[in-house]
Amino acid sequence: MQTIQVKDKSFSLFIPEKEILKEVKRIAAQINRDYVGKEPVFLAVLNGSFIFAADLLKEVNLPCEISFVKLASYQGVNTTGKIREVIGLNVDLTERPVIIIEDIVDTGLTMAHMLDVLKQQNPASIDICTLLLKPGKLQVDLDIRYCCMEIPNDFIVGYGLDYDGYGRNTRDIYTLIK
Ligand code: 5GP
Repeated sequence: MQTIQVKDKSFSLFIPEKEILKEVKRIAAQINRDYVGKEPVFLAVLNGSFIFAADLLKEVNLPCEISFVKLASYQGVNTTGKIREVIGLNVDLTERPVIIIEDIVDTGLTMAHMLDVLKQQNPASIDICTLLLKPGKLQVDLDIRYCCMEIPNDFIVGYGLDYDGYGRNTRDIYTLIK
């Protein structure tokens, strides 16, 4: 069993790069078919999606734009508590078809919030494209059109995903050894 150490935790090999890239190509081919004649704007959600976004975009053969956004959490000054703001959005989404690129959908709350924010810009459509999905953790009703792989409820790192900031720079995906 191939294992890696990230800070104080051990992880074992879960999805090899070859398998990831096969699924990324499959999803890119679907997008190429579905978006014929359209010029989508891809919005990659940082930090975790940076490697997935790069590999996906290399397989997309449509005229398209990509922008990188981040969800910043900060404590609001009023009683509503935590406010999450989408930062870095520098493309006008009005009447544009939008494809969100996400690393992993867990509870789905991040994507639900992102959809709420983006809809305010009146895009023509919004699709979610995620590398990974944990169906067992989903808490909200989310329409995920593009999903490379479904995984169990375990914590994973690699291929862009981190544990406490580390472990993003591996080609394969690893799962936590409990
Ligand atoms: P959600 O809002 O769907 O619960 O969480 C989505 C975010 O949580 C992802 O974008 C990712 O940053 C983080 N996340 C969820 N599950 C995992 C995991 O197994 N490993 C890592 N590294 N991040 C995760």
